[in-house]
Amino acid sequence: MQYLPLFTDVRGKPCLIVGGGDIALRKARLIQRAGAVVHLVAPTIDQKLQALVEKNNGQCLARRFEPADLDGVVLAIAATEDLALNTQVSELAQARNILVNVVDSPALCNFILPSIVDRSPLVVAISSGGSSPVLARYVRSLIETAIPMAFGRFAALIGKFRPAVKQKLPDIDQRRDFWEGVIESPVGELMLAGKETQAEQRLAEMIEDSAALSRAEVYLVGAGPGDPDLLTFKALRLMQKADVVLYDRLVADEIVALTRADAERVYVGKARSDHAVPQNQINQLLVDYAKQNKRVLRLKGGDPFIFGRGGEELALLAEENIPFQVVPGVTAASGCAAYAGIPLTHRDYAQSVRFVTGHLKDGSLDLPWHELVHPAQTVVFYMGLMGLPTICAKLIENGRSEYTPIALIQQGTTKHQKVITATLATMVERIEDEAIQAPTLIIVGEVVELRDSLSWYDS
Ligand code: SAH
Repeated sequence: MQYLPLFTDVRGKPCLIVGGGDIALRKARLIQRAGAVVHLVAPTIDQKLQALVEKNNGQCLARRFEPADLDGVVLAIAATEDLALNTQVSELAQARNILVNVVDSPALCNFILPSIVDRSPLVVAISSGGSSPVLARYVRSLIETAIPMAFGRFAALIGKFRPAVKQKLPDIDQRRDFWEGVIESPVGELMLAGKETQAEQRLAEMIEDSAALSRAEVYLVGAGPGDPDLLTFKALRLMQKADVVLYDRLVADEIVALTRADAERVYVGKARSDHAVPQNQINQLLVDYAKQNKRVLRLKGGDPFIFGRGGEELALLAEENIPFQVVPGVTAASGCAAYAGIPLTHRDYAQSVRFVTGHLKDGSLDLPWHELVHPAQTVVFYMGLMGLPTICAKLIENGRSEYTPIALIQQGTTKHQKVITATLATMVERIEDEAIQAPTLIIVGEVVELRDSLSWYDS
């Protein structure tokens, strides 16, 4: 290891910056975030920089650097383009054992500033030892996505309760187990959901009674329409956390593969025998697994609250007082439309969009057709393939122009996506010889025509 990573306390302490331009501004901003009192020296000082330093009780001297400027400072940063001056600052500072950093000159530094992920009081520092700041920044962006924003507040909450836990559990191993349990428990999820008062209350209960340290929780998560890149950060985090995963036909294998490797996976969609697990049994399974003190993930295609029966699955959990949370997903309409180059609304063509189920009941479709024929409204039919002939005929019958464009999108957002366009009058004939692959989504409206100019790569 070329450098020893350490965090240093500069709160209220004088730190020198030599330089008055953009780079000095960035450094001033950074060290002031950690509470440093900036002393800045440069013959010309950027106005914004001067204002920033003075606002934070620092001082600016508009003249050249003098060795006495190092008197009493704990840390110095040289941010000028003058190599001789930078070298002078570095040598003088090192002779006095003052921490010194010269921007972009590792050889002149006795400390370097890492890339940081700031979830104060939790801070992650990344360094490439000066060899590739770009790579360090890239790693930083990866870590940014992996650490939820609320972790800072979570760290602060844990800090607040540490003395109480120390008193209750004198043994260090016991304490470590306790905190690990807390981080993994619903308290963590409450914090991340911004419910800090409840999190605090629950944590206090756990300290009182370690039996309250239950991990039982259910996550109802939208997995999006197919492309794994459309998962949300939150979905992925919970997928990595759950002990049991219940998923169905609409969730792509690649997505199921992103769940924790040792999680129990339960398929509740239609099996080869064509019998799906009935809805009430799924509802009960969620409760049963949670009662075995497990973290249960119910993974659904698209968004759980759009034609997903999410509401029904939650009702029983609420009744049984099992903690749960819902994570939205990209619904098929948004995903398919975006990937097919069809904007669902458009100032000139459609001022509203409507999501409708096209699922046939006893071979017929009972929909408020007269509400679906307005020319400036896009209508998206989910589960509409079997009902397609009825949908086209009924829309025309109720007054929508037979020339209205319609798109059929199969396996949208996946690498197998296929889009077929026609009009209300011609679509049924158009697909007569096509082997249509489920799932398919139907979009009706003038906006479908924009696809020709708005799809960049597509079938
Ligand atoms: N909750 C889901 C919808 C479930 S209903 C969501 O928000 O997307 C199932 C219907 O969704 C299918 O019949 C089909 O019409 C549509 N669908 C889901 N994924 C799709 C995809 N990748 N491509 C096309 N249609 C899709």
